[in-house]
Amino acid sequence: MAELELDQLVNVVLRRVADRLGQTPDRSRDEWQPALLVAGNWKMNAPGGGAGEALVEFASHLALAPQTGVDTLVFPPATLISSVRSALAGAGASTEVGSQDLHWEPSGAHTGEVSADLVLAAGATWTLVGHSERRAAGETHDQVKAKLHRAVASGLSAVLCVGEGLDDRTNGSTFRVLRVQVQTALAGLALRGVTPGRMAIAYEPVWAIGTGRVAEPAQIDEACAFIRTVAGEEFGAAWASRLRVLYGGSVTEESAADILAIDQVGGLLVGGASLSPKRFAAIVEAGAARAQNLSAQGGGS
Ligand code: PEP
Repeated sequence: MAELELDQLVNVVLRRVADRLGQTPDRSRDEWQPALLVAGNWKMNAPGGGAGEALVEFASHLALAPQTGVDTLVFPPATLISSVRSALAGAGASTEVGSQDLHWEPSGAHTGEVSADLVLAAGATWTLVGHSERRAAGETHDQVKAKLHRAVASGLSAVLCVGEGLDDRTNGSTFRVLRVQVQTALAGLALRGVTPGRMAIAYEPVWAIGTGRVAEPAQIDEACAFIRTVAGEEFGAAWASRLRVLYGGSVTEESAADILAIDQVGGLLVGGASLSPKRFAAIVEAGAARAQNLSAQGGGS
């Protein structure tokens, strides 16, 4: 059999298996419906510079914010994962902690890098993968894929970040760029049996990150719908319908409610505003209000 034919055959079989996996109810989470996910990316910063009291203050604000129907998550710098986790637990906040990045190898001579096992040992349960600031520093599509697969294989949940640059948006390449980013990163992942609750994809237009410019609701809605469709090609439609597609890019406590009201949006990835305990707690509250609204309508995100 020619190599191409064999490849095609393998692809068909993989797609069929993926569809099956996507449609098989996850018995451990039979009742699982997509809660909204509100996540904060602290980047190379921390509230109050990361001092113990500042972390305790952050944790106690979060613990007070109503979180019914909202999963919350923070991505501190790797050196703070353990102390942030302790502060949150001490305050009684259910917020989980994630790593901002990880290496695709399990261990080895990779000076300055962190592995999935190391961040798990520090208390992380999630990781970001493919943030635009890492892609801008030279991370390739294949490296993003390898990191995502490593995360899932190691038992970390993951937020995959995707988004077009300003040039892509202005020259009409947005959907081509999103397709390549999502398709490459997810390829083969359905075979690992990842449940939709253990993954999210954040739509973060690069031109909206840290610029104060939020994408238009229609742009967010169509991009998130498109991402869901591409994810469905790997995982099957049933799986993709439960996937949380987040929006990220200059979200504030003022804009959060309107963005969360967009049909396809299943949560938020917040940068700058997540460094302030009050602002982040207000965004989480907007999530709880939206969740309440959705449950009154009898729907999910
Ligand atoms: C981000 O970097 O993921 C982000 C969304 O940043 P900001 O909210 O500051 O635009």
